[in-house]
Amino acid sequence: MVTLDITTILSVTALNLFAISAALPLIMGNTVSRSVRWVQSSLLAQAAAWVCIVSAEFVWDMPLSVLAMVLASVANYSVYRALQGWIGPRPGHRLLVMTCVLMPVGYALSFDHYALRVGWANAGLALQLAIVARASLWPVREWGTNWRRLLAAVYATMALVTLARGVLGAFFTELYPSFTTPHPINLFAQLAANTAMPLTTVALLVAWRTEIENRLRTLALTDGLTNLPNRRALATAAPLLLAQARREGWPVALLMLDLDHFKQVNDLHGHEGGDRALQLFADVLRGCLRTNDLSCRLGGEEFMLVLPHTDAAGAEQLDTRIRTELLERSKLELGWPVNFSTGLAMCHLTDADPLTAATQAADQALYEAKRLGRGRLMAAPQHPTPTSPGVDAAITTAGQ
Ligand code: GH3
Ligand code: MG
Ligand code: MG
Repeated sequence: MVTLDITTILSVTALNLFAISAALPLIMGNTVSRSVRWVQSSLLAQAAAWVCIVSAEFVWDMPLSVLAMVLASVANYSVYRALQGWIGPRPGHRLLVMTCVLMPVGYALSFDHYALRVGWANAGLALQLAIVARASLWPVREWGTNWRRLLAAVYATMALVTLARGVLGAFFTELYPSFTTPHPINLFAQLAANTAMPLTTVALLVAWRTEIENRLRTLALTDGLTNLPNRRALATAAPLLLAQARREGWPVALLMLDLDHFKQVNDLHGHEGGDRALQLFADVLRGCLRTNDLSCRLGGEEFMLVLPHTDAAGAEQLDTRIRTELLERSKLELGWPVNFSTGLAMCHLTDADPLTAATQAADQALYEAKRLGRGRLMAAPQHPTPTSPGVDAAITTAGQ
């Protein structure tokens, strides 16, 4: 017959947590996000909390027990902060902070009343765990990632067993006279805490991997100089937008913009001056575009806009707005005027590949705008028949 004793399970849990807390910084390195730091401090605080609880059985009962409650609260709060960093603002922050303060204080004040302190502490911890579980899932419609479900399940289970432990201590005190009493509920709660540890670690490691994946995805889809989406991002987003436009019957305009005499800008103001002009142009674009408009830096000093809900007249108005703002701001912020030429084409959504066709038409129109003296917009004929491969016939297959 195997016998389980709480002190042994607890010591093993604490030892494993310390080992994980020591290993994580080693394998993760120094350049980690704030969320990862919160996770690391959470595991360390939880390990220290268990050590305090084991030690309190032998020495300094009151101070170590109170310290354990503080550390357990810190551990729960740290996981909550990590979640905030990964998935944005979470619900229940104020309640969690209140519980993290009031639980240890109430525990210390009621230390001489066993039933009250055990009930109070476990109810407080259960509430903290429940808040973390909810924070991991909320909002439900965005709970697609499995690590969040796993974390929520672990924390919800721990909330329940902790609450059960509190009820046992508060209302059935004679069955649970000490933390190490081998009552089935207490044993189950300690085993659950032991199982929660590797599961939580796994969930948080996957969260870390997801964070890195997201960062790499953003890097792969963003132009490093201007922070605008790059051509790969546009090639990914445009088909979805065009499909929606086809369903809804929206007109979609495509603008191809190329800064004028940019070689000269570099020659006159240095490459760094040219870079600042590109950044300013991107900034102006961001200020003039609507949320659903797509923009990208195709490369060099060429940019492309895909504008849903926009006919040719609307696209021309936008072009004028961008041009006016760029001229004003460049004179003010750079000290010299920057202008550009534009090719406009409407996407014919019934075409097999409307983006490539419109890109070619806009490219030809842009060439015409340059030929006619620059600093202007030229529109492609209504139903262009693509004759040249265009600068960017490969836009839809960009990805290499
Ligand atoms: P046009 O009016 O006919 O468009 O003439 P242009 O000088 O703007 O065009 P051209 O294609 O001859 O030259 C583009 C220049 O843009 C050449 C290249 O050095 C510069 N360029 C491309 N990418 C960057 C960049 O990231 N930073 C800077 N500073 N310059 C860049
Ligand atoms: Mg060019
Ligand atoms: Mg140019």
